[in-house]
Amino acid sequence: RASRQTAATRPELQLSFEFFPPKTDAMEERFWDSIHKLAPLNPRFVSVTYGAGGTTRERTLRMVSKIKTDTGVDAAAHLTCVGASKDEVDAVIRGFQAAGIGRIVALRGDPPEGIGRPFTPHPEGYQNAADLVAGIRRIGDFDISVAAYPEKHPQSANWQEDIDNLKRKLDAGATRAITQMFFNNADYLRYLDRARSAGITAPIVPGIQPIHSFKQISGFAARCGASIPDWMAERFAGLEDDPETHALVAAAISAEQITELLDEGVTEFHIYTLNRSNLALALARFLGRRPG
Ligand code: FAD
Repeated sequence: RASRQTAATRPELQLSFEFFPPKTDAMEERFWDSIHKLAPLNPRFVSVTYGAGGTTRERTLRMVSKIKTDTGVDAAAHLTCVGASKDEVDAVIRGFQAAGIGRIVALRGDPPEGIGRPFTPHPEGYQNAADLVAGIRRIGDFDISVAAYPEKHPQSANWQEDIDNLKRKLDAGATRAITQMFFNNADYLRYLDRARSAGITAPIVPGIQPIHSFKQISGFAARCGASIPDWMAERFAGLEDDPETHALVAAAISAEQITELLDEGVTEFHIYTLNRSNLALALARFLGRRPG
């Protein structure tokens, strides 16, 4: 079983960690504490999200630049094109370039009213993520990641449309896709089959969401169209006031998920940290990664 191999025999394994820009001093302390604990795991990159409509533009840039200078780990800035003109978005891309940031996670973003609402591009803006990728490519030689949806993006009318859209983003110059969180590995594996059948050869890296809080993650999942399986809800039922058992169940669920994926031949993982290090550190152990 691949999941029982040692790290030494799996040099191809790649990890990345996603963070969000902290809002308060206390949150910023936790952010850096987690970065400093995860950086020694030698991730391919650490990424920092971009608030809807560019609300975190300065903070995203500051965090990404500082991650690189403080830890030496490569950092990626997320970028969205919702609610902004091409000139405004291009200025942000040039700002990343000037700060020596070579990686971008390129996204359309959602209207402020939420993901379920129809998306209207800015009249002078990029039309969608594929258009944004092409724009980034015109400006510089960035490593570009894009989003993929193992349960289909809620606005794709059918699978064909969804996979065609992923293909357009990769054809426009993205290097890899990173998936939305999912908890049923069969959804991801079916999605890979669909993408490969459509001629997509780029890596589609599974986005793994450790469950720091079942209540919070269920809320996120509902908003972004990811489903929570009944078996998972049952495992967390009644643990709201028992953080220790909650954390043990969460670690077991994510470990089970990545162990299965390893055994299916998956070698790249993107972990949504929510700026916390404990479950991400535990998962890295399952992947044979230790600090150093
Ligand atoms: P797109 O790829 O543009 O697709 C969106 C929808 O439009 C799809 O249904 C697609 O099929 C359809 N579509 C696109 N082009 C066409 C076309 N020409 N014709 C018909 N249909 C079309 N959001 C943030 O605000 N900040 C972040 O930092 C952030 N990071 C993320 C990271 C990851 C890994 C993921 C998976 C999501 C992230 N998101 C983030 C959320 C993302 O912005 C939303 O999921 C958004 O709804 C879609 O973005 P997209 O880049 O996938 O859009």
